[in-house]
Formats: sequence, structure tokens, C-alpha cells
Amino acid sequence: MTALAARASALRDLADSTFDLLIIGGGITGAGVARDAALRGLSVALVEKDDFASGTSSKSTKLVHGGLRYLEQGHVKLVFESVSERARLMRLAPHLVRPLEFLVPSYRGDKPGLFVLDCGLWLYDALSGFTSPKIHKAYRTGDVQKLEPGLRRDALQGGIVYYDCATDDARLTVENIMDARAAGAVALNHVRALRLLKEGERFVGAEVEASGQTIPVRAKVVINATGPWCDELRATYGASQILKPTKGVHIVVDAKRLPLGRALLVKEQKRVVFCIPWGARSVIGTTDTFYEGAPEQADADRSDVDYLLEVGNHYFPDAQLGLDDVLATWSGLRPLLKPPGEKSASAVSREHHLESQPGLVTIAGGKLTTYRRMSEEVVELAGRQLGLDRPSATRERPLPGGVGVDGQSGLAELERRIVGLEPDIVTHLVRTYGARAPELKARIDADPALGQRLDPELPFVRAEVDEAVDHEQALGLRDLLERRIPLSLFGRDQGLAPAPAIAAQMGEKLAWTQADVAREVDTYRTAIEATRRFRA
Ligand code: FAD
Repeated sequence: MTALAARASALRDLADSTFDLLIIGGGITGAGVARDAALRGLSVALVEKDDFASGTSSKSTKLVHGGLRYLEQGHVKLVFESVSERARLMRLAPHLVRPLEFLVPSYRGDKPGLFVLDCGLWLYDALSGFTSPKIHKAYRTGDVQKLEPGLRRDALQGGIVYYDCATDDARLTVENIMDARAAGAVALNHVRALRLLKEGERFVGAEVEASGQTIPVRAKVVINATGPWCDELRATYGASQILKPTKGVHIVVDAKRLPLGRALLVKEQKRVVFCIPWGARSVIGTTDTFYEGAPEQADADRSDVDYLLEVGNHYFPDAQLGLDDVLATWSGLRPLLKPPGEKSASAVSREHHLESQPGLVTIAGGKLTTYRRMSEEVVELAGRQLGLDRPSATRERPLPGGVGVDGQSGLAELERRIVGLEPDIVTHLVRTYGARAPELKARIDADPALGQRLDPELPFVRAEVDEAVDHEQALGLRDLLERRIPLSLFGRDQGLAPAPAIAAQMGEKLAWTQADVAREVDTYRTAIEATRRFRA
């Protein structure tokens, strides 16, 4: 079935069925809930107003981690859960959850000092049952200088190397959606829930808007998984505010301007900032400031970018990074719970909050890292209203790209099996699609033009465009270039030059007219301009 036919059929199902669960929100939380529930045999619908992962779930620091900072704040349970999930996800999705080495440099006067940090990391490693990719190690000053030659030397007193994981947050979300659909869920992007439907005291579904049509969707339990929009949906049925979101900004620079051998974790004014190697690019982030405006407009502003450049230049004084070095920015809102008293943004808890009413479960807060566990909890809670007795299958079931892949060694084996493409393209395909990489290779074998790069500097190829439309529900150019093939973040011009050709390729599959192609390119350009507003 073509992507368009599949969508038309899913829209019909949405209108005609009564579902066990209707999930509102297609970020990692909603996607995880949909997968967990569908795998337990529930009938599931999910609606996402924009694209899957277009909210916070494509705007994170892209780490699957315990969070050293949370340990310092005494959130031992959260760290324990996070490092346990990290171990599980490394097994179930090795292509998307990959070991990353971190260096924490220690300077005279830093708190905590090297000794306390070392003790903390023993606890961190122990909480994971020593399943970290490697055990941490302390280094003397000279060795730290050798590890990261560009690092500021003044008052450097040594450092510690430890391990966590890097991920692709948007793809993690999309693979959850793919698996939910494979298990029978109806999951639609670009469908907005307008208001919840109620009969007496019980919620019975939602009215949704799809392609200009209003459709009532009936369900036994509705799940509010709208992240930073949680209060907006709550307001439609008169519920109080529970969130106090904070904004987090990242900047992307050329790796040649900020070469990093490993990720760096530094403490700045009681908060943590990362400098992360990201293929041809390096990323610095994040900020953490309370935010009250519309979630859609939470773009990076000048003070965010200046602050991150200052941190970069402080730790890498020779880099002398300036505004012109910033190739891209991304900015997201943490859907954090309102703290009971006055707290700084960084001190607000990252724990999640669950609320159950007749016919409605609300989930807010939490972390990307613990999404699978949170999803399990949400389905258990909703299941009480449904008489559900089947256990979750997500503890052992790999995500689509993890099927049959034995961890990092399995990925290396897959790379060896794919021949006839340039090595960086093979690595990219395997590390992005895992077990699905041979399907991309088969597309290129069938039509060698699909092996062409989308950007001469980067390993993304044309076959991925077709794959994203056929199997990953990319419906617009923004879906494609911001989340499936993120040229918006990696491209030196943020993908603006290849955008028209890419839109034309998508258009062939999605029956776009020339005017549709031009409109898609315009919409994309406008979105990119918003992320560059800090330059004004
Ligand atoms: P979202 O991803 O925002 O999803 C909610 C979705 O609901 C959105 O896609 C939205 O479009 C949709 N929606 C809203 N209203 C409606 C409606 N009416 N109808 C239909 N759909 C609707 N966690 C980690 O574990 N590791 C990290 O490194 C990390 N870094 C972070 C860095 C930053 C800067 C931020 C902001 C967060 C970070 N987090 C991290 C936290 C993590 O990203 C979030 O907890 C997680 O992505 C939240 O996912 P969500 O699905 O709850 O929300």
C-alpha cells in the first residue's frame, strides 16, 4: 500500500472504530505508550497535531543517560531507573542508543572536587549494576591535556572519563510509532485533538481535526501525552495548570571549529553544559530557563546563543567561536512539573507525574531516557479502567532497527556485510537504520541514483527520502529535513540549497503539484529563518 493509501485507510479507521486507548501527542511518551498498549493487544489510536517528535522529543540533548547532575541533587531513584533503561535500550536499539565517552575536567575551586566526583561515579556505575559501556577512570592533568588538547589549561587539576549513551531522539520516537503500527495501532501525524469528549463524568474520546475535517474519535480511555502542551489541553476541560516549562537551547558548530575527541561535561553556575561531538559537527548545550510563551515560539534568542558561545570559548579558548560559527540552533521545552516552592530552573524535578480520572490518564514530565518505563506505567494505569491483564512486551522486544542485531558488534557485522557504497555512507545507514539498513541498500541497488548524497559534505542519501515517505510517515518537507534526515541541523546551509530537489522527490510519491512543492520549500525556509532569529 502507498503512503497516501495507508493514511486514507487510517483516517477511516479513526472515524469508524471505538478504541481502547486514544493517545493525544506523538512525542516519545505518546509513541512509547502506543507501542506498549498495541503490543498488549489493545486497540490503539494516536493523533499528533504536527509531526511525530516535533515537540520536545526532537529538541533534547539526545542523551540516554543516568544524569550525573541528578545524583548530586539526590534523585537516586531517577538515576537508578535511568541507568537501568540505558542498559536495556542499548540492547533493544543498539543503532539508536550508542555508547558515548564523556570527560569531566576538574579545575581548582570546582565543587564537587575530583575526589567526590570519583566517589559519585562509583555510585553511578554501581547503580547501573556495572552495565556502563565502560567503568569510569580518573586522569591526571597531563593526561587530560593529551585527551583534549584544546581544553583550557589554567587551574586544570585532572579529570574523569565516564560513559553514557547518545541517541537520535526523533528516530527513537519514529521507531516506536512504526512498531506500534506493526502491532495494529492507528497512528497519525498532522491530526490535532481539538477538545475532549465527555459523557457525564467520563471522558469518552476527542474531537480531532484532519485535513480540514472534524472527526469525533471514541475511546474507552484517552491519554493526554502532549508534553509542554499538557496544560493547553487541560484548559479545554477546565483543569488547572500543572507545568512550569523550562527552555533549553543548543547550538551547532562545524567540528573543525570545535574539534572534540569525546563529549565534555562542564558545570556552569550550578548547571551542566555539554559539548558533544556529532559527526561533522559539534554541539554545545543546553540552557535552562523558565519559559512562559507559546511552545511553538520557543526559539533560541541572542542571549541563549551568546551564553553558549561564552561557555564554549571559556573551555576552548583558542576556538574563539563567534556568531558566524553557529550553523544551526535548536530549542525545546522541558515539560517539567510546577515545583512546590521557589526553585531555580535546573533544580526542578525531572520525575514524571501521572493522573487518572474516569476515561482519562494524564502523563507529564519525565525524561526521554525513561520513556519505555513510563509508558509501561501509563498503560498499567489506563489498563485498570479496561480490565487489562496482559504484561508489557517492551522489556525484551527490540525496536524495528534492533531486530536480530547483537549490540555494537552486531552493527559492525552489518557494516561489513554492506558493500559497494562509500564507507561513511555505510556507517551512517547502519547507525541510523540498524537492521533496516539492507533495505536502503536494496533501494540503491535497484536505482543507483538513490545512492547520491543530498549534501556533498554529509552521508545522507536520496534513498532515505523514499524510505521516509514510504515507511516513516514523512508527509511534509519539514518532517523530512527536521526529523527523518536532519539537514536542518547538520547542513552548512541547513539544507536550503537541496530543499527544492528533495521536495520534488517527495512530491513524486505524495502526488504534489509544482505549487505544493514550492509551498513546502517556502514553509521550510520560514521555519529555518525562525531558528536564525537570534542573529537579528
Ligand atoms: P513532546 O515530545 O513535546 O510531545 C508532545 C507532543 O504532543 C508534541 O509533538 C505536540 O505536537 C503534541 N500535541 C500537543 N497538543 C496536541 C493536540 N492538541 N493534538 C495532538 N497532538 C498534540 N531527556 C533525556 O532523557 N535525555 C536528554 O538528553 C534530554 N535532554 C533534554 C534537553 C532539552 C533542552 C529538553 C527540553 C529536554 C530534554 N530531555 C532529555 C527531556 C526529554 O526530551 C522530554 O522529557 C521528552 O522528549 C518529552 O516527550 P513528550 O512526548 O512528553 O513531549
